[in-house]
Amino acid sequence: MTEKEKADMIELHVHLDGSLRPETIWELAMIRDGKAPAADLEGLVTLMQAPVPCSSLSEYLSRFALPLNYLQTDVALERVAFELTEDLAREGVEYAEIRFAPQLSTELGLSQMEVTEAVAAGVKRGMAAYPGIKAGLLLCCMRGSDEGTARNNMETLKTAADCVKDGEKGRIVCGVDLAGAEEVYDTGLFRNLFAEADRYGLKRTIHAGEAAGPDSMWKALEMGALRIGHGIAAIQDQSLIKELVTRRTALEVCVTSNVQTKGVRSLKEHPIKKLYDAGVHVTLNTDNRTVSGTTLLKEIDLVKNAFGFTDEDIKRMEGYAAEAAFLDTAIG
Ligand SMILES: [Zn+2]
Repeated sequence: MTEKEKADMIELHVHLDGSLRPETIWELAMIRDGKAPAADLEGLVTLMQAPVPCSSLSEYLSRFALPLNYLQTDVALERVAFELTEDLAREGVEYAEIRFAPQLSTELGLSQMEVTEAVAAGVKRGMAAYPGIKAGLLLCCMRGSDEGTARNNMETLKTAADCVKDGEKGRIVCGVDLAGAEEVYDTGLFRNLFAEADRYGLKRTIHAGEAAGPDSMWKALEMGALRIGHGIAAIQDQSLIKELVTRRTALEVCVTSNVQTKGVRSLKEHPIKKLYDAGVHVTLNTDNRTVSGTTLLKEIDLVKNAFGFTDEDIKRMEGYAAEAAFLDTAIG
């Protein structure tokens, strides 16, 4: 891959709390607790990466628990947001949408708006230090069935809407997402939430067809998803594939993560090439750089080697990603 091709890289699906530097979590633990979070750095990396073997999406998601403990202050949030922006820029990513759930960083009393402002400040500092990258933020609502989660999700939408309304913050916050255990909490449970997102006029992507079937993706489309996180279950439903092609709905595919969460039985069985060949707007993403132990360049190499994608295919997928970006003014 040439330098020019690297410069066109776009990442639409990367979680902040799944993409932290282990060294930083080590330092944040020492600052807060005065003691190390593991016997050594290698031990900490093990705690922050998907277990091998990993049995399910829920087990994969358990790897977020430890780092989230330390993402409860504005200083820590600003720092990790800066560092991820720096990591993306150093890799050659030109445009990224970084996602996180503000409601998971409110344990010490920060409001969701304060969490969002801290992350935005870190990303802005990163963009100032590395002018080659532009980045937007997606605020994740969380799957859950309790009243607290429902309240928090509504607050997340309001936070996103307030940011979008505000000229300055609106240049960073560009949409919302639904994340969490899809196999436990059906996508249909969140219809009211996305009806509210409609009222606010928020752009949205929804994790669907990752740990559940095509039905979950149909529901996500009905609920206004402009893009779908993963969406690999589409391969089971020809009419859904047709619908995605007609709508030009981008799938944010994360191959390494899909293998780890058992979204597919093996790499060989991953449907990315079949979906791409059918005309679906497939895009390449990392999901979680630390939890999945990957980068965008690794994902590109992986699909070239495993499925025979050519440089031209990679370019086409970057075009799909550019077309599906939420931060309208960010690219082009
Ligand atoms: Zn994800």
